[in-house]
Amino acid sequence: MFPFRYERGRDIAGVVALAERDRSAEFLAGGTDLLQLMKDDVQRPGRVIDITRLPELDQIEAGSGGLRLGALVKMSDAAAHPVVATQYPVIAEALLASASPQIRNMATLGGNLLQRTRCGYFRDHGTACNKREPGSGCAALHGENRLHAVLGGSGYCIAAHPSDLAVALVALDATVETARAGGGRRIPIAGFHLLPGDTPERENVLDPGELIVGIEVPALGCAQRSHYLKVRDRASFEFALASVAVAAEIAEGVVRDARIALGGVGTKPWRAHDAERALIGQPWTRAAFEGAAAKALAGARPATHNGFKIPLAQRTVVRALSQLKA
Ligand SMILES: Cc1cc2nc3c(=O)[nH]c(=O)nc-3n(C[C@H](O)[C@H](O)[C@H](O)COP(=O)(O)OP(=O)(O)OC[C@H]3O[C@@H](n4cnc5c(N)ncnc54)[C@H](O)[C@@H]3O)c2cc1C
Ligand code: SF4
Repeated sequence: MFPFRYERGRDIAGVVALAERDRSAEFLAGGTDLLQLMKDDVQRPGRVIDITRLPELDQIEAGSGGLRLGALVKMSDAAAHPVVATQYPVIAEALLASASPQIRNMATLGGNLLQRTRCGYFRDHGTACNKREPGSGCAALHGENRLHAVLGGSGYCIAAHPSDLAVALVALDATVETARAGGGRRIPIAGFHLLPGDTPERENVLDPGELIVGIEVPALGCAQRSHYLKVRDRASFEFALASVAVAAEIAEGVVRDARIALGGVGTKPWRAHDAERALIGQPWTRAAFEGAAAKALAGARPATHNGFKIPLAQRTVVRALSQLKA
């Protein structure tokens, strides 16, 4: 282990100012990802700022304008909230398909959006990884890449984005609310995570020291008829091979609005706009679902061991849509 300073934050302005001054600082929320990365020597923060006691970031507010989830809300509390479970089932289902009950009791929503990839090479010091050590190469490109992304990869990184919650939020056009020294901002989640390009070490648009304070989900007609379906190697405690968040508004058997986002197959949570366009205006039939599924994976580029993810994700899209009530 390496030495680091530990400090407990008392208010938002204080932790943001502290993190701004010390670029080696990391916020500590549930600690379920950060502490493992520190133990594995993948991240070496000089200062750990505990944000768990910051006031009012653990609140859930629901009203006619939508839903607001505080950044420190635990995954288990969000999933169990009656409004989340009944009005935004895709969010509750994505959370309940994540990790294990024990981890969901500790882990926060803000931390979930910022968890690092599960690419084995990223967490293994003996191998080349552009995300861990920029310029060192990518061992996955010609190595073990069965779990890696088929959408959004580059010659520098093909790691799959790990968060299930982020996929549901992308489907619902959520917004991430932040605080930073120069003033907070609202970031549409579609633009929050970055493609790897030639800088895979940069995973999101947050500035150094910027704190997530909440997540806003708009009131959408389709949110109540929504669903998250995750396919993985074992039934629990496992990341997605392919997952799909769907939501739809259907009137007289015809699709009026549709949302489709993919997880497990993209280097970031993947909104499938072409698939949505293919579905809107169509009758609610399996043939329409299959057309949308083909569009969703049209741009996929497999590596040596993950080609199976393309038909798997297509079938997952069809099944997730079939499971929505018409
Ligand atoms: C065995 C295992 C299985 C898992 N399976 C899944 C799964 O299937 N699906 C899934 O989605 N996740 C899964 N996870 C990941 C888990 O959901 C994350 O570890 C967790 O959500 C992170 O939240 P945390 O509060 O513990 O974050 P922490 O570990 O405390 O922090 C993670 C990162 O986010 C930063 N951070 C935290 N909060 C904020 C904030 N408010 N503002 C700015 N920065 C912040 C921290 O500085 C750190 O860099 C799994 C984890 C484990 C260990
Ligand atoms: S896929 Fe990305 S995270 Fe994995 S080894 Fe390559 S650069 Fe590193």
